[in-house]
Amino acid sequence: MTGGRIVCVHCGGVSTARRHDRPWCQQCGCYLTLDPAVGEWVSFAEKLWRENEARNVQWFDQTRTNLRRQLDDIRSVVPDGWTTHVNDPGRGLACIDIAPPADRIDVSARLYPPHDGQPGGWYVRINNRTRHVDFPLYIAGGAHAAFFTTAAIATHGAIQTVRGELLASY
Ligand SMILES: [Zn+2]
Repeated sequence: MTGGRIVCVHCGGVSTARRHDRPWCQQCGCYLTLDPAVGEWVSFAEKLWRENEARNVQWFDQTRTNLRRQLDDIRSVVPDGWTTHVNDPGRGLACIDIAPPADRIDVSARLYPPHDGQPGGWYVRINNRTRHVDFPLYIAGGAHAAFFTTAAIATHGAIQTVRGELLASY
């Protein structure tokens, strides 16, 4: 907040104008609002974007913690010869990759854990690189993606579908 002055973070100018009783940056032509986390005056659009980013980072962290907690459960369901590993893009949504033993059909599953902002549970996507298809597991007969209550059930569903893809791709 630099000593009570309102410095616009976008243009670096000092804002003294007000509109509708709010700080206004004449140079940028936007209202300014305080981002209390860092003490910067930003546009409302920027503030929204920052809040969204913060929520995403929280979600990514939550996902990582969830995955680490469930990894043993998931591994206990995966058949011998299959591989399981955490796929962590760093800045992004981590998941668990489950793949059958190497084959000329290249197919694997990705498991995404639930998080606070989303109802449901574990979510599974199948990626068949041989057939160039990538799809979520659906509720039987429905058009909605399936959510599984536990990691083990999601893993079971993933394995069944990967096996189905292996058979269908030959
Ligand atoms: Zn400005």
